[in-house]
Amino acid sequence: MSFLDNFFNQWGSEMAIDLGTANTLVAIPGEGIVLNEPSVVAIDANSNRVLAVGYEAREMIGRNPGNIIVERPLSDGVIADYDVTEAMLSYFINKANPRRHIWTPKPRIVICIPCGVTSVEKRAVFEATIQAGARQAFLLEEPMAAAIGAGLPVDEPTGSMVVDIGGGTTEIAVISLGGIVAFRSLRVAGNELDDAVMRHVRDVYGLHIGNRTAEDIKIAIGSAMPISTGELDMEISGRDITTNLPRTEVVQSEDIRDGIRAPLQEIVVAIKDAFNETDPDLAADIIRNGVLLTGGGALLKMLDVLLTQELEVPVYVSDTAFSNVVEGCARALENPEALRRSYTQK
Ligand code: ADP
Ligand code: MG
Repeated sequence: MSFLDNFFNQWGSEMAIDLGTANTLVAIPGEGIVLNEPSVVAIDANSNRVLAVGYEAREMIGRNPGNIIVERPLSDGVIADYDVTEAMLSYFINKANPRRHIWTPKPRIVICIPCGVTSVEKRAVFEATIQAGARQAFLLEEPMAAAIGAGLPVDEPTGSMVVDIGGGTTEIAVISLGGIVAFRSLRVAGNELDDAVMRHVRDVYGLHIGNRTAEDIKIAIGSAMPISTGELDMEISGRDITTNLPRTEVVQSEDIRDGIRAPLQEIVVAIKDAFNETDPDLAADIIRNGVLLTGGGALLKMLDVLLTQELEVPVYVSDTAFSNVVEGCARALENPEALRRSYTQK
């Protein structure tokens, strides 16, 4: 390491970023999570200027006039729009910097990527991070970051299994001795469940609802199994599909459960596949240690119960499901071995 690198590292200008399809989190070692905002950008279609990022941009979804485009620059976990991702990252990095009003060296950044992305996709995240203002960038695979963040013994010769259900993708990985030994990544996660709720409410209640209402329903009363504390209902408003007039209806958790059964089953099958592919000794470790369920989608009611029953392995929900990935990236900053194993460029 050069003298300058040493000097900058001493200064402590470091950042960890969880660049998610739904939400972006930024943590600074020693300070914790300093930013947590939706991964959304609003752009003026005429001038191509960025109008708003994060919370402010999300408020515009569904309310934007034709000349304003509101987009999520990441879809299915990878960069769909490079320039907009870079603009978003640059905004978040600047906003998260506690000393942004005085000159500070550019930060060293650890940022996460989904498992199994192509080298072109990795390079895109790397370049966007550098262009957005990083001095050095290290890319860490999401399930590995989640496992480190949750405090699993990733470097030990024992198998740990992580299932991270985000907005766009579900990432399933078996980890041992600091590496990922088996993984599955599927494009069925929170957004698919929202779409399923939307279709089901249309079919069963004859109501047309928007994406945000569908997500609200999923979070409030959605469940993977009968709810142990009692079934729930919720009053919602939408547009009647035949009369086109606004109408209010009370929806039941049993109905919502029927609606999301198919996408949930796809997630179950993928986890079973990954588990069945795992070497018997590692599988024995996982049976003993259990499976960690993380990411926002892990919070779906009764999902842990469904998975425990289907896999016949204890599955538990992390109580820090939203922050495991960014915490793991932050811990990797202090772990030269983890950085050495990550994707980077000199
Ligand atoms: P990403 O890593 O892709 O940014 P997150 O880990 O932030 O995603 O999770 C976002 C997803 O979690 C969204 O689809 C959201 O609807 C879902 N979610 C958040 N809270 C809950 C909840 N209580 N129950 C079910 N799903 C939830
Ligand atoms: Mg995530």
